[in-house]
Amino acid sequence: MPNRQHYKKRLLDRLQELDSRLHGIEGELIEPSPADDEERATEREGDEVLEQLGNAGLAEIAAIKHALTRIEDKSYGICVVCGEDISDKRLELIPHTPRCRNCA
Ligand SMILES: [Zn+2]
Repeated sequence: MPNRQHYKKRLLDRLQELDSRLHGIEGELIEPSPADDEERATEREGDEVLEQLGNAGLAEIAAIKHALTRIEDKSYGICVVCGEDISDKRLELIPHTPRCRNCA
């Protein structure tokens, strides 16, 4: 049985971190592009990286929110695929994971 309070705190901390990082990214994406052609190309590449980072961040945020729901309904720490307990070692590494090591 995982220590729910411990993981809940870790999930909430991580959520906050991602949230502030994503808001930083949004701010950068809406900055106007420089007029110079070469600079604009560089800027575009940078934006793509930021967008990917944003998407990965959004996916992680969704997973974390899901995990928090599972903490509330007491299914947290149980693999959604096979129903086995997820090891503490794995939860410590990826607190928002819904699957055990075998099913990941
Ligand atoms: Zn499993």
